[in-house]
Amino acid sequence: MSEFYRMTGFQVHGYFLYVIIGLVFVWPLIIMLIHLFKISSPNHRKGLYFLGLLMPVASFMVYQYFLAKRCQDEAFLWFCDASVIMMLFLIPIIGIILLRVIFKVVYVEAFKQHHLKIGVTNEDFDQKFKLCCALLKMPVPRYRIVNQKGMDAVAMGIVKPVVFIHKALVENLNTAEMNMVLLHELVHIKKKDTTKGFCMYLFRDLMFFNPISTIILKQYMVERERLCDEEVVSLTGDKKFYLRTLLKVWEMQLEMKLSKKSFGLMAHLTSQQKTMTYRIESLMQTQASLTVQPIKITVLIYLMVVLSTLYITGLVC
Ligand SMILES: [Zn+2]
Repeated sequence: MSEFYRMTGFQVHGYFLYVIIGLVFVWPLIIMLIHLFKISSPNHRKGLYFLGLLMPVASFMVYQYFLAKRCQDEAFLWFCDASVIMMLFLIPIIGIILLRVIFKVVYVEAFKQHHLKIGVTNEDFDQKFKLCCALLKMPVPRYRIVNQKGMDAVAMGIVKPVVFIHKALVENLNTAEMNMVLLHELVHIKKKDTTKGFCMYLFRDLMFFNPISTIILKQYMVERERLCDEEVVSLTGDKKFYLRTLLKVWEMQLEMKLSKKSFGLMAHLTSQQKTMTYRIESLMQTQASLTVQPIKITVLIYLMVVLSTLYITGLVC
């Protein structure tokens, strides 16, 4: 088998090796660096998780296409043979996953269009919405008030995302509370979180055979929410009130089962219990999470992840 790909230069099998070995290496490395350098900033953590998902694929590209490295080390050849066998059944599964991705995009887009039609707008709400957009200095996206299980407040869609707000929120939150909710969703749109989220989910799907990819993706999404929370707090300067609003919506969400589903194309206000606890706790802590590492240290940490992952994966194949 080894001869087969040596002769044909058939290197796709390396992809599976890089993802398996790369993620097994990079995940503990990131956890270690976060603890060692006490990295609490959601921005940096998010960056590290992004690197974690990116590095195995980047290593594969670097070695197989730029350096045109071939599996030469005899000690690891059995790895290559194993991944050639893996390739035979993993490639069809990846094909199915890609079809599922297309289905997901079509489904969410249809869902969005349907709710754009049945959802309502109102003048009073219009004004609040536009004021929040003005505060964020961003173009005004579309919004609808809906009465749909599975939604509390959510930004949805890859192109031209829409904000959907559940009727119960409009009826039960006062203006100041609603502003907090809207700002949270609008920050997601301004940062193009739904599009980026979709790409990250796609990336994870292509690495589904290593469950560490799902763990890293989840952590990435949690930090994305923390970052959004911090942005709203720094915009409004009222942490306690934002926290209270978040708790109020969370309580409503639990009572009415307003939100759960997410396809990477949606950015909800509330999350799963564990994540909510973490978000609330980190917001309640002092400004520690907003302190930023000196740029030199950040660059050093990122370089450590990139170079050591390249080195480790390069040893194997
Ligand atoms: Zn959010």
